Amino acid sequence: MPPLSDRTRLIASATRRGQGRRPVNPPVERASTMLSDDPASMQDSTRGPVYGLDGTSAARELRAALADLEGASDAFLLPSGLAAVTVPLLALLRPGEEVVTSDAVYGPTRRFLTRHLAARGISTRFHPADASTAEILSLCGERTRLLLIESPSSLTFEVIDVPALATACKARGVLTVMDNTWAAGLAFRPLHHGVDVSVQAVTKYAAGHSDLVMGAVAVRDPGIARTILHTIEDMGWHVSPDDAWLALRGLRTLPLRYNEALKSALQVAEWLQARSEIERVLFPPLPGSVGHDLWRRDYFGGAALMGVVMKGGDKASAHALMQGLSLFGMGYSWGGFESLITHESPQLSHRLHTPALSGQLLRLHIGLEDPTDLVSDLEKGLEAWRALQDSNLQHPA
Ligand SMILES: *Cc1c(COP(=O)(O)O)cnc(C)c1O
Repeated sequence: MPPLSDRTRLIASATRRGQGRRPVNPPVERASTMLSDDPASMQDSTRGPVYGLDGTSAARELRAALADLEGASDAFLLPSGLAAVTVPLLALLRPGEEVVTSDAVYGPTRRFLTRHLAARGISTRFHPADASTAEILSLCGERTRLLLIESPSSLTFEVIDVPALATACKARGVLTVMDNTWAAGLAFRPLHHGVDVSVQAVTKYAAGHSDLVMGAVAVRDPGIARTILHTIEDMGWHVSPDDAWLALRGLRTLPLRYNEALKSALQVAEWLQARSEIERVLFPPLPGSVGHDLWRRDYFGGAALMGVVMKGGDKASAHALMQGLSLFGMGYSWGGFESLITHESPQLSHRLHTPALSGQLLRLHIGLEDPTDLVSDLEKGLEAWRALQDSNLQHPA
């Protein structure tokens, strides 16, 4: 039999035989204390967890399913996606060492690097978001211990050549950690390409319903796995059994939601790209977009998340566009069932190299609504944008 597809494996792990009569889904076991029958078995950790911090059955099943998806030997759960990024860095770096990452890295990750790690003697060098493989490698010096990859990058969606970077880093003894949230552990397999640690915010697509915050770290190398496990134990990180249960429920339908949202997003992106108010759409799955060529080479799918670069405009017109919509929620995060819009121009000021965009930057997350309805809604938003542009032309400030 050929290897099972992701869709099938994520479901087959729930229905496997030989476990006696039981519900399809593991129970939510709320526990701190676990009881044993006798003093000898109390000491025996091979008989299951001895304390709530060790994780109960929903967490165990979730870890196994995530590890299987990523082609990892183990996956660890963290209380947020951000914690899943910070834990491997805490585990693998020592004072005096250096991290190289993109100028377009996820904002809170950047804050952790420049605030927390810098204060502890670990410095960061930022490469331009659109740097070539050679440019990125030229920044890796004597002290560089780790390359932190996020591809596509946050907000501007540049795609970097991860297979080439992972291979080159391995040869130089530089560790690679990839924030793989965009691919949801599904559309890209960092570990298959030689990346040492693959991280995702389970908050986004895996959970998929905007109802919990969680992160996962997937690893293949036993030494790295041990170091990360020790850090999680030492820090006392824990994920609640209810959240693990919900995330496992979300994971069963991940491929269906992810692929359906991508189809809608492509439809919306094509429509947006043809509009006169819009300069360009930053969406690697869209032909002609930034990152499209590497995306086509390396990815099996993509997140329904895009940057929309307007022709000109200001904060007021961006806000007018957002106010003109009724189906897009105004809110951060993505990967849930609902469409969302955010105004991102203000976030770009944190970068060392501010990208040269011709106008305001908005970000759309396309959810599971009918894309035809979303396009009609966007039509209204663009009307509100145009109304403000026209009145600005008639009454210049
Ligand atoms: C959302 C996100 C995170 C953080 O996830 P949280 O669960 O919100 O902490 C990390 N990296 C990327 C790329 C994200 O989009």
